[in-house]
Amino acid sequence: MSRLNILVVEDEDAIRAMLVMVLEQAGFKSIAATDAEDAQKILDDSSPDLILLDWMLPGISGVEWLRRLKKEPMYRDVPIILLTARGEEEDKVRGLGCGADDYITKPFSPKELVARIRAVLRRSGKIQGLAQIALGDLVLDTEQHRLSIGDKQLEVSPTEFRLMQFFMTHPDKVYSRTQLLDQVWGRSVYIEERTIDVHIRRLRKILSEHGREDLVQTVRGFGYRFSLID
Ligand code: CA
Repeated sequence: MSRLNILVVEDEDAIRAMLVMVLEQAGFKSIAATDAEDAQKILDDSSPDLILLDWMLPGISGVEWLRRLKKEPMYRDVPIILLTARGEEEDKVRGLGCGADDYITKPFSPKELVARIRAVLRRSGKIQGLAQIALGDLVLDTEQHRLSIGDKQLEVSPTEFRLMQFFMTHPDKVYSRTQLLDQVWGRSVYIEERTIDVHIRRLRKILSEHGREDLVQTVRGFGYRFSLID
C-alpha cells in the first residue's frame, strides 16, 4: 500500500507526538525530526511527499532550512508547510515569499492541519491520480474497485463504492441529500432523495459487520456526514 510519507520537523516533544498521531490517523506515514540537521539526514535517505516544518527550531531555523532546500534542485519541489506561532512569525511568513507552500499558525486543530496537508498535496499533484485513498484503517482502491477495513474486504455495490469514495475524500463535512445526489450520481440523473437513504442504510449495514456503522452519521434535518471521529 502506498501511503504518502510526511516528514515532521518540530523540536517540542508534545507537538511532535501530536502531529505524528494526527498524521497516522489520517492515513499518512510519518517520520519525525527534532531539528533541521536531523531532518536533512532523513531527507537524504528517504523521499518524503511533504514536509511539516516548525519555524522556531534550535540551531538552523525552519525558515532558514526551507530557504536552503528551495535552492537545491533535488529538494526544491518537495511541498513544505511551515508551522508558525501567532504574531510576529505569522506576519513575517506572510510577507516573506520564502517558498513555503502554506503555513499554519499554532494552535491549530487536527482537522485544519489534515485539510491543509491534503490541499497542498492536491496542488502539488501528489494526491491526484492516486489509486488508493486511505483514511485511518479504511482503504479504497479506485483501480481495483475495492474497499477494505484493515485486512478485511467489504462487499459494496458500485453505487456504494462511489458514495464511499466521495465520503472518504470529503470527510468531516455535512452534505445534504441533494448535494450527495449531485456529487455521487450527477446532476443529470433523476433520483428520489430517499434513494440516498436506502444506499446509506446498506452501506451502514456493511460497515456494521465490521463494527464501523458510526462512520456514516446522520445529521438530523440536514443530511449525512462521514467521519472517523464520533
Ligand atoms: Ca519550535
